[in-house]
Amino acid sequence: MSKIRVMSENLANKIAAGEVVEKCASVVKELVENSIDAGATNIKVNLIDGGLTSINIIDNGSGMDKEDAVLSFSRHATSKIYKDDDLYFIETLGFRGEALASIASVAEVNLETCSKEIGTHVHIKGGNMDIVEPTSARPGTSITITNLFYNTPARLKYLKSEATELNNCVQFIEKLSLSRPDIAFTLTNNDRVVVKTSGSNNLLKTIHEIYGLNVSSNMLEIKASSDDFEITGFVGKPSILKKNRNHFNTIVNGRVVRNNDINRAINDAYNTYKHEGFYPIVVINIETDPTLVDVNIHPTKQDIKMSKIEELTEILYKTIKEALYNNLLIPNAIVDESLNKVDIPFIPLSVYDKDNKVTEVVQTSFDLGTTKSEEETVIKNETFKRLKLYPVGQVHGTYIIAENEDGMFILDQHAAHERVNYEMIKKKFAEETPSYTDMLVPLQIELTTSDYEAFMENKGVLEDLGFKIEEFGINTIVFKAHPTWLTKNFEGDNLRTIVDLVITNHKNFNKDRFLDSLAKMVSCKMSVKANEHLSLSEMEGLLNDLVKCDNPYNCCHGRPSIMKFTNYELEKMFKRVI
Ligand code: ZN
Ligand code: ZN
Repeated sequence: MSKIRVMSENLANKIAAGEVVEKCASVVKELVENSIDAGATNIKVNLIDGGLTSINIIDNGSGMDKEDAVLSFSRHATSKIYKDDDLYFIETLGFRGEALASIASVAEVNLETCSKEIGTHVHIKGGNMDIVEPTSARPGTSITITNLFYNTPARLKYLKSEATELNNCVQFIEKLSLSRPDIAFTLTNNDRVVVKTSGSNNLLKTIHEIYGLNVSSNMLEIKASSDDFEITGFVGKPSILKKNRNHFNTIVNGRVVRNNDINRAINDAYNTYKHEGFYPIVVINIETDPTLVDVNIHPTKQDIKMSKIEELTEILYKTIKEALYNNLLIPNAIVDESLNKVDIPFIPLSVYDKDNKVTEVVQTSFDLGTTKSEEETVIKNETFKRLKLYPVGQVHGTYIIAENEDGMFILDQHAAHERVNYEMIKKKFAEETPSYTDMLVPLQIELTTSDYEAFMENKGVLEDLGFKIEEFGINTIVFKAHPTWLTKNFEGDNLRTIVDLVITNHKNFNKDRFLDSLAKMVSCKMSVKANEHLSLSEMEGLLNDLVKCDNPYNCCHGRPSIMKFTNYELEKMFKRVI
């Protein structure tokens, strides 16, 4: 019985119409997903000129007999969907059976496949199957696509440069490798190995093979579950941020997906642990009932919609935040030798023989604990809260030098104070009956009509915090009181800035987001600036407050607030120890 059936027209119509093949990476994607569906555990992608000249995929999957090999190029042929209802329970990766047919209509295809010791060779050019012949038996499938779009010049010109096409393919294979640590992937371009994973079924090892040692040794493991979701994976420490979101690897039921709500939850979890514009590396596996997932909203199948997305984003947010909280380290000013080793990126993990088989795997310790040096350089949050730091003095009116029995600390006074204020204000926000101070001189602010309306719509948020705001004639408001925690530097212009913040957040107003921006802005303005003299007792007060913070290591914008020189490092610096 043939494994491949022809999809009913009715079902075909249910699949959103859309161009499947638009670039080399989409050809690679369709073919590699076919290999995965065929049960392959070893998949090689060999590109020439980024795929522009040729794309070859070799797998060790189950292969096809002659009948299936021929049928696989007909429109709507699919081995994966049998009846209409199955569309809602798609658990295999690919389902757009027409992929091979559309590829074959715009390129030259050479297929060699073998199932049960019967090999078949099929050649197609421009949709014309001109060769179907028996061939030698080699388990699996090898398919080569050349001259992509040779007969459709209009689409040919949309292919990008070799570098861009290659980059798209690499990104796809990297993400896929992370979603399938159990499959060994190799991607070569012009015979050079670009991506190689061992199929060890160990996610952290796959992360290592993709990102290198510096990243894999700075990942924190996460685990969480609820009635509907099972979450596992790794999230990067804030010390290994990237400048784009490409490294948010989210995998739902084994499939690499994109979902804006999930991305936002990840980003929000790192709030104040990182700079704006920098993004963490994460690999998160989400297992859930397939009926909660709608993968069919986009032909490329990466964008998904999910039911119960709020439940999911809440668990994700909490889990990541907790992992960061429990593992944050005070940055060491000097990286000692044992840490230095960790900083060398891309140490090859595996040694390959000439058949590219892994002959030996260099053992690398992934135990995060091993990065500690003899001296205790790792100070976790709960320990930090009990620390006592003694101020020594101030440098350039900007940095505070402090000490304790473990070593010497340098703090950025503004960043440290800002952190203290930020956490204080966030706590005040949560109070049910905020206390307020009447203003000696009420502040009157005149607005344009549209700004006035935007402000009035959301002024309740400020009133809940303890601001007393009254209307005063046309488009004018008056502040009569402000929350008590709003202290120095907070008259006049700064209240105007708060009003502006309400107005600029007016579109799709989100209370939590607004309150966070408000806390950041106010804490920055309330904090001691650079070039401000501090007395020793003021410094001591600041140090005492800082150590009690949930995240004493960064200001609310993610800048570092404190650095440590351990005694050992000081001694090494001055050659007291060698
Ligand atoms: Zn600031
Ligand atoms: Zn800051």
